[in-house]
Amino acid sequence: MKHESDTTGKGFFRLTMIFGFVALLLAAAGTAWFGVYQTSRLHQISSDQALRMRLVECRTRISSIEQQFSDEHLPVKKQEELQSKLRIECARFSEIGQSPEVQTQGLVAQWLEHRKPLTGAVSRESLQLMVVDLDGMIANLTAKIADDNDLLTLSLNSYLGFITMLLFVVVLAGGRFIISNYRHSIMPINQLAEQLAQLNCNLPESLHDTAEAAETLMSGEESSEEIRSVTESVANMCHDIEEKNRKLDELYIRDEKTGLYNYRHFKEHLIIDVERARRFNGDIALAMIDIDHFKHYNDRFGHVAGDKILARMAEIISQECRATDIPSRFGGDEFAVLFPKTDQATAFEIAERLRNIICAEPFEHERKQPGGQLTVSIGVASWPDDATDCYTLINNADKALYKAKFSGRNKVLAYTSGKLSVKEAS
Ligand code: GH3
Ligand code: MG
Repeated sequence: MKHESDTTGKGFFRLTMIFGFVALLLAAAGTAWFGVYQTSRLHQISSDQALRMRLVECRTRISSIEQQFSDEHLPVKKQEELQSKLRIECARFSEIGQSPEVQTQGLVAQWLEHRKPLTGAVSRESLQLMVVDLDGMIANLTAKIADDNDLLTLSLNSYLGFITMLLFVVVLAGGRFIISNYRHSIMPINQLAEQLAQLNCNLPESLHDTAEAAETLMSGEESSEEIRSVTESVANMCHDIEEKNRKLDELYIRDEKTGLYNYRHFKEHLIIDVERARRFNGDIALAMIDIDHFKHYNDRFGHVAGDKILARMAEIISQECRATDIPSRFGGDEFAVLFPKTDQATAFEIAERLRNIICAEPFEHERKQPGGQLTVSIGVASWPDDATDCYTLINNADKALYKAKFSGRNKVLAYTSGKLSVKEAS
């Protein structure tokens, strides 16, 4: 169905282009024809008009000669003078007969041929005949000029009608093309722009919505292939950014070597959880874990081997934690585990189980360690019993850890309020 709409859209676009081209050709051909026709007609009319003028002048002069001939007592001298004037007129006639315009007027040429004998002596009757003939020719020419003028007006009207019709059809097709273009291109682009504007406002939460909206838009049958390709790219870009954001979020909160939460994330959680516990009268416990004689291990087997130990320790700590706990790398060979909604006794039990598992784990080269094995010491403190805020909670868990180290290592000690006396695992 999508493909069908695409084909229709492209077919329509091609058809409109072909139609536009044909219309342009027709308009050019029509205009050229009209130009040539108009010029030749105008030329014909103007030469007919010139000829008519000359005939009218001739007729006026011959009529005047004929008037003078009507006087019966005309002296001979005057008659000779009139005869000579008439000969001049006849010579002018012959001249008219030679002109190219007259050549096209068969009627005038015929008349001139017929009246040649008049160049000799003339009678008054023959002059009257000439005037009548000339009147007839002038009337014919006038009618012809009028006909040609009518034809010219008709051709002009036809041309204007043709151009108007062509313009009307072009405007109709153009309008249809613009509407189709709007539906196929501009409207989807506007929708896409709205989605992108929304994306811009709500980064990064709206990325998923934007990708979905772009995909919905993409599936619209109205959109052109190009628009669908753009929306597909936007949707893919959104998915890509979403995925990269997710990885970035992970990188932001994870420690690279151990994969546990980093100190930044631990601190943020500690502040929020202590605040929440304060508001809802809840408990929160913290365990600080430090590897025993780790410097010794590093010095003997190198930092690469030491890193492997750090990674394995982190794995064990993660496995022993609950989903709501926050196991983190505090720094160096020290880990911190936050136990939300947990009292000191429960945290102590978890820490003790953890210490036992680590103690039982067969680490590489651990036999060369003091005591023949790799172990950890753990200090536990809780809120609100052992601390007033998140900083004293860390400090007191640290004090318990220090005490565990001081009293022989591989131990879990809990901080007890006020004093530095610690609760020890049995
Ligand atoms: P203690 O039992 O008193 O804790 O003795 P320790 O040797 O572990 O002393 P401490 O905790 O002060 O020493 C920490 C050592 O951890 C020092 C350093 O060699 C090692 N360390 C710190 N960060 C890293 C790390 O990223 N990789 C490795 N391989 N070693 C580290
Ligand atoms: Mg240590």
